[in-house]
Amino acid sequence: MCAMETINAAQAIDEIVELLNTRAKGRYGLTAVTQQQHALQCASLAEQTGEPVEMVVAALLHDIGHIVHELGEDFADQGVDDLHEELGLRYLARWFGPEVTEPVALHVAAKRYLCAAEPDYRARLSEDSEKSLRLQGEPMSEEERGTFEGHRFWREALRLRRLDDLGKDLGAKTPPVEHFRPHLEACVQTGSSTASAASEKMASTPGSPLVS
Ligand code: FE
Repeated sequence: MCAMETINAAQAIDEIVELLNTRAKGRYGLTAVTQQQHALQCASLAEQTGEPVEMVVAALLHDIGHIVHELGEDFADQGVDDLHEELGLRYLARWFGPEVTEPVALHVAAKRYLCAAEPDYRARLSEDSEKSLRLQGEPMSEEERGTFEGHRFWREALRLRRLDDLGKDLGAKTPPVEHFRPHLEACVQTGSSTASAASEKMASTPGSPLVS
């Protein structure tokens, strides 16, 4: 398994496809769907609703941070925030531009935003999303919402969040991971920013979950 060494675009896509086919079989939070099913449902919904290819990839990979750590499946029950949006950003920024990585980085902040902005949104959250919300910082304050809206990709982050909330349907039929290989190929960049550069960028980005 690749850690942080430099690999080319084709190898990167192979690694991502393999991760989704081998490491994403665990349960998605408290839901009955697996991480793989959740990723495929979110990406399929993005595709079906006419989202641009970068958003389809963001939807497919938004929780990759959950499967590149070794905390297991019940970390939220143990009061641990796995910071998967930060891990996902670090992992993906090696190969993808901000159209993919920024909505991923902001999808947890987007939940906190929507909980504050839409009174009925929080009531509709799944049990695991509600539980993790308490670890992730509760609904945003008015000031935090203003900062979030200053982010270049805040609207995309909200759209990704809504896809995330829908991709937990036990009966949904989805294409296999391979269906999304062309989408990955369309978005992967060679010579993308390094994880540390992306991290520095995030730390100085308004609305970043790393600084909220
Ligand atoms: Fe998710």
